[in-house]
Amino acid sequence: MSKATRVLVTGAGGFIGHHLVKALVQEGYWVRGVDIKEPDFEPSLAQEFELLDLRRWESCQRAAKGMDEVYNLAANMGGIGFISANKAEIMHDNVLINTHMLEAAHQTDVSRYLYTSSACIYPMYRQTDPDCAGLKEEEAYPADAEDGYGWEKLFSERQCKHYWEEYGLETRTVRFHNIFGPLGTFEGGREKSPAAICRKLALAQPGDEIEIWGDGKQTRSYCYIDDCVEGIMRLMRSEHREPINLGQDRMISIDELVSIVADIADKEIKRRYNLNKPQGVRGRNSDNSRLREVLAWVPQVSLERGLERTYSWINDQIVHRD
Ligand code: NAD
Repeated sequence: MSKATRVLVTGAGGFIGHHLVKALVQEGYWVRGVDIKEPDFEPSLAQEFELLDLRRWESCQRAAKGMDEVYNLAANMGGIGFISANKAEIMHDNVLINTHMLEAAHQTDVSRYLYTSSACIYPMYRQTDPDCAGLKEEEAYPADAEDGYGWEKLFSERQCKHYWEEYGLETRTVRFHNIFGPLGTFEGGREKSPAAICRKLALAQPGDEIEIWGDGKQTRSYCYIDDCVEGIMRLMRSEHREPINLGQDRMISIDELVSIVADIADKEIKRRYNLNKPQGVRGRNSDNSRLREVLAWVPQVSLERGLERTYSWINDQIVHRD
């Protein structure tokens, strides 16, 4: 495997970016991390870490300068509550970030550029049943993406495709399906369902009632962070230029997710379903056929194992803080 010596990770102060920096450094890459904030829970291992606002063209030029490869993970994002309520801001920020980052990578002769898309690009009409089939990459069209965040991701996917076709920039596009794990946001409004449920269980006393968004029957699949990082690095090294799913293909309901975390926490709790909260599509799962074919690999860490580690980390954060 040929290793690029200098790699830029944007969003290196965020959840996936921070884990990716660690893995790249361990693999022997020289890493520049860029974000508008430092990592929340531990210092970055990047050889160089710069605070830059990547909505600005000059920041992207500076970030890309001298880099061989770019992993673009910077984005204004959060769980379903956040993305449902902040569509204008999300579209504005994220289109600017990818537009400027991609052009800066092109102008500075970066050889490979990985873009982090999302399962939110898939059409709403394929996700109306909790028992739906796994989403295949080619089913993204005819498009009917999640309003706001999903459309922005789909637009940016196409930008990457055209930079390859017209400028020869080797772009890779990954569609994440609910990545979770330690060192991720677990409170404040941007957290996603696994982290929110772990926090609620960590704070609950046995017998307490916890709030669940929606009726608990909506389904998703969840992928542990170590698998996500390994998948991204494998994809960057592959020759696959079309978008590809990266997630687990085990679909479970939110109620089942709560039960698994309650078992790990060893707490019996009651559930209150709040139908006024956003719950997203009714069902969503990853079809991993292309992932298996292209990378000869699929995520390995079981949901239970990943949730044990995540719950334990979130519980520690809460206990030590209090
Ligand atoms: P995150 O919010 O933890 O990380 C994103 C980082 O981008 C943050 O640290 C944030 O400060 C930074 N950022 C935002 N605006 C910026 C700006 N103007 N300039 C510089 N940095 C800026 O999110 P994450 O979960 O690590 O997600 C990483 C990428 O993966 C994002 O593109 C996200 O849309 C995508 N994604 C994540 C998931 C998931 O389940 N976590 C699912 C689908 C897609």
